Amino acid sequence: MKKLPSIKPNLKDLPLPALKEAITSCGQPAFRAKQVTKWLYQKRVETFEAMANVSKDARSVLEEKFTVAKLPVVAVIESEDKDAVKFGFGVPDSEYLVESVLLVDGERRTACLSSQLGCGLGCVFCETGSIGLVRNLTQAEILGQLIGINDYQVSRKDKFVTNIVFMGMGEALSNYDNFLSSLRIINAEDAFTIGSRRITVSTAGVIPSIRKLMQQDLPIGLAISLNAYNNPMRSKIMPINDSYPVEALVGIAGEYFEKTGRQVTFEYVLVEGQNDGPEAVRSLAALLGNIGCKINVIALNPGKYRNAKGPEFKKVERFVQSLFASGLNATLRKSRGQDISGACGQLSGKMITK
Ligand code: SF4
Repeated sequence: MKKLPSIKPNLKDLPLPALKEAITSCGQPAFRAKQVTKWLYQKRVETFEAMANVSKDARSVLEEKFTVAKLPVVAVIESEDKDAVKFGFGVPDSEYLVESVLLVDGERRTACLSSQLGCGLGCVFCETGSIGLVRNLTQAEILGQLIGINDYQVSRKDKFVTNIVFMGMGEALSNYDNFLSSLRIINAEDAFTIGSRRITVSTAGVIPSIRKLMQQDLPIGLAISLNAYNNPMRSKIMPINDSYPVEALVGIAGEYFEKTGRQVTFEYVLVEGQNDGPEAVRSLAALLGNIGCKINVIALNPGKYRNAKGPEFKKVERFVQSLFASGLNATLRKSRGQDISGACGQLSGKMITK
């Protein structure tokens, strides 16, 4: 029988403590681990040979065991007004691409990263959900998106990514271990140096993982995708609501604020004629009025939820004003990247542009 070639693991799949162990076990002093971390994530090298201050012996021991290959960029599409760029990265075991979006806003460069290929939670308004869950992304694949985006920024002489949102494909809190170890590297001084205040994870409401996250010393922003003002309505569009209903989400948001000092943001996608009336305003005020949170409203983007559409801009504005008038800290989120299918709920893994 033909023997399959052995596939070496990627060094970028190691959490920081394991990376340190791998380096010291090659007889290298511990400070070399910091240098290798910088080569991987700040200088974004693709070969061990490029790691000039690591001894030749250590490099060849590492090379025998690991690879430092990059996640291949298959496609890049810029939006017409240049404020959003969508990236498609290839993986060897699927026809779907891992999609990420770079959002440009003043001095801010926000990378919207994916955590899974597809998603198993099946929210009806979401293109990613319609794929189903293909698999979790590895740490190297999560960080590979950020490396690819920073490479692109260098190529167009723009600045590195300053902010991170986990709002791309997948539910990050269902891929908790790889998400958390990636987060530590994004946050680390020798790697991406992006502070907790500039990182946000969006979740459909995986409460056990939110609990684990708030025990970490990483007070990142938490955004909970709410989209409805009662359980029957939410269960209809987000099946996860049967496990973690609206009241439980409100409860965990209060706990998160208490534990981390960070106010939770509730995301509310506005669908015309369904969740945009006066009853919605009254119910949301009753539900969220006492817990110290924000509510971020965005009109539904065109996509899979074809029997529904977002209200016109004026109506969205009026809805936000009514929430504000009833005492909620409500903001209107501008949708970007629609023309490259890079806006919320539009990532299909196929780099569709229209
Ligand atoms: S909205 Fe998020 S959680 Fe829901 S299906 Fe899409 S990717 Fe998954």
